[in-house]
Amino acid sequence: MKLLKDKIMSEGIVLNDSILKVDSFLNHQIDPELMMAVGKEFAARFADEKIDKVFTIESSGIACALTTALCLHVPVVFARKQKSELMSSEAYTTKVYSFTKKVTSDVSVLKKFLHEGETVLIVDDFLANGEAALGLADIAHQAGCKVAGIGIVIEKSFQPGHQRLVDAGYHLESLARIKAFKDGKVVFEED
Ligand code: 5GP
Repeated sequence: MKLLKDKIMSEGIVLNDSILKVDSFLNHQIDPELMMAVGKEFAARFADEKIDKVFTIESSGIACALTTALCLHVPVVFARKQKSELMSSEAYTTKVYSFTKKVTSDVSVLKKFLHEGETVLIVDDFLANGEAALGLADIAHQAGCKVAGIGIVIEKSFQPGHQRLVDAGYHLESLARIKAFKDGKVVFEED
């Protein structure tokens, strides 16, 4: 997706050999027009699927999940990283190891928002080791939902997540695929 790649080239900051900072348009300040374009692109790439809900994880997945859900005319559900008093037995829970924070969190979704037989599209901002996406897929399966696919805004293809999701049989669509960080610059995979 050219618009996204151009934005990464002009505003992305390579923090070290494994992390890209994009807090001017995705992870802190959000560019709504870019997010709308991202949502349209995901909706187009999964147009063959009958999707009931878009499913993501707080907080950085929410903006792109919302625009995707707007384009698909379905609700968006986001998993929470902290269990609240309200959640307890009323929730599906899984553990997700955070690539950036290096901690494992309990991730939960209230049972009343995912129903057996529904088809969900998982959407997230980044793909590194695939922990967040696989955690969301685990919750979807606990709920008896079908996973139509996984949409990722920025994939770092040199990390294991891509292969793990493909090996698990998921339809994966990533809008920008990064092959490497070289001399502090982003190198994309060919489209
Ligand atoms: P994974 O679960 O695939 O290992 O990592 C994906 C999650 O970690 C995303 O939800 C995202 O929040 C965070 N993440 C992974 N890599 C990066 C990165 O290079 N930059 C930023 N900003 N977040 C990342």
